[in-house]
Amino acid sequence: MRVGNGRDRSLLLMNQKEEQKQMALIVQKYGGTSVANVDRIKNVAERVVARKRKGDKLVVVVSALAGTTDQLLKMANSISDRPSGREMDMLLATGEQASVALLAMAIHALGEKAISFTGPQVGIITDESHTKARIIDIGTSRIEKALKENNVVIVAGFQGGTVSGEITTLGRGGSDLTAVALAKAVNAELCEIYTDVEGIYTADPRIVPDAQKLDVISYDEILELASLGAKVMQSRSIEVGKKFNVPILVRSSLNNAQGTLITKENKKMEEVVVSGVALHEGEAKVTIFKVPDRPGTAAKIFKIIAEAGINVDMIIQNKTETNATDISFTVYKNELRRAIDAVEKAACEVGAKNVTCDENIAKVSIVGVGMKSHTGVAAKMFDVLAKNKINIDMISTSEIKISCVVEGDKGKDAMRVMHEAFGLGQGPKKRKKK
Ligand code: ASP
Ligand code: MG
Repeated sequence: MRVGNGRDRSLLLMNQKEEQKQMALIVQKYGGTSVANVDRIKNVAERVVARKRKGDKLVVVVSALAGTTDQLLKMANSISDRPSGREMDMLLATGEQASVALLAMAIHALGEKAISFTGPQVGIITDESHTKARIIDIGTSRIEKALKENNVVIVAGFQGGTVSGEITTLGRGGSDLTAVALAKAVNAELCEIYTDVEGIYTADPRIVPDAQKLDVISYDEILELASLGAKVMQSRSIEVGKKFNVPILVRSSLNNAQGTLITKENKKMEEVVVSGVALHEGEAKVTIFKVPDRPGTAAKIFKIIAEAGINVDMIIQNKTETNATDISFTVYKNELRRAIDAVEKAACEVGAKNVTCDENIAKVSIVGVGMKSHTGVAAKMFDVLAKNKINIDMISTSEIKISCVVEGDKGKDAMRVMHEAFGLGQGPKKRKKK
């Protein structure tokens, strides 16, 4: 994305405002890589203390130490194929409980006051859906009291509790959601998300070396990029940010680079057709063959899938012969097993022939608010894939994105050629408006 002056200016103003303001209330979130080990935790403590000494009041949300959640999940999955959701949450919530306590100790060691809390302790109330609970309320009195007593308030990300006192987690990457929701609840000036990258890029720089950092991006664009697999921030956290208009600044915890501001869409943003390219390799395709072609069958199938709590992404129905149709859709790979159970049950109920799945797929997507006012974007995308001999399996679009499912091993190539074709690489000369 070309970042116009308007965008630079808004970030500058934001930074100036940030500096001028005395006693701003800021929510900061440090991801797992920022607290990966004792040295990194000390680094975060130093940053937090420096900021506090400048006069800001801080609520700090922390993720589990990098790799911890994965490790716990792996252990659970090696014990059971389908571990109970309640016990999973009991297990996963321990990761964040460890990191908040360690950070509090590191801040104490620097001579400042800090107090750590679990999600339930500060009153993050969620519904009962274990492992992907939704926040329904956040109490602020305990946080406010601790802030008044001059503490840095440290809150465990990713977790909450039900009204009946059960521990829940908010889905992978849920610490982002904790941070944004808390920023709204305590009415913070800004929600800063600290991570191991300097901001949001036109593509994943590990795959596309000439990816550019964006200074500003709209909620809708980042929402598409996040849900499409650009592993920047958890989607739900951005939805909440958009809903309550919480300004979110994504930046690195390892240096002082400016970061990327996520904010409301403005006219300037529409000038560029494609802002970013995303790749998602975490989905699998499920196909149900020969579904009887009559009203209500799709409804029945997807009702059973929904009741099993499975998220469905792309859906394609294709009538292949009289009285029968094939239905394909994608689900997250980590839900595939449960999805297959549900789909087989559904297929049997509606009298479909059989069910297959394909885990070797990748979804590549281009995103940009400029697509609303430019034509020929889809044609160009398909043409570039064709020229690179990449076959398209499924296609879906929205107002500001086009996604193609391709063969799993071709995903990264597809991402690179898209980035190149839409002129997103570094250097203004290489950039094309269309
Ligand atoms: N620790 C959790 C995870 O890895 C939550 C987070 O990091 O945001 O998904
Ligand atoms: Mg994380």
